[in-house]
Amino acid sequence: MAREIYAYKCRLCGTMHYPFRMVCKGCKQNDFFEFDTVPLPKSGKLLTFTRVYNLPAQYEVATLGLGIVELENGMRMLGQLEIDEPTIGMAVKGSVEVVRKETYDDYYGMVFTAA
Ligand SMILES: [Zn+2]
Repeated sequence: MAREIYAYKCRLCGTMHYPFRMVCKGCKQNDFFEFDTVPLPKSGKLLTFTRVYNLPAQYEVATLGLGIVELENGMRMLGQLEIDEPTIGMAVKGSVEVVRKETYDDYYGMVFTAA
């Protein structure tokens, strides 16, 4: 089953948030928990990227590509890139995978590949 990462949609004004915020940045008057969860779209375009070296041991790769992706619905998110030669503006598609392992927990994040 495909995993999802959820955005939080304000029940008052519909503004989408990711990650979670206690106060809506759209209407600024949403009290706690007045949000619906909505799966983030998986497709988007790459806005910018970088490559990280000398990662801590929890990451099971030698280098890590990181990118900011503008998703189909206009939200922007940071994700891991599995693209050899990324270019700005390229179409990408994401899947939710383990991006970091700790002793007792796996952390899931979005991993983007070329669309
Ligand atoms: Zn709102």
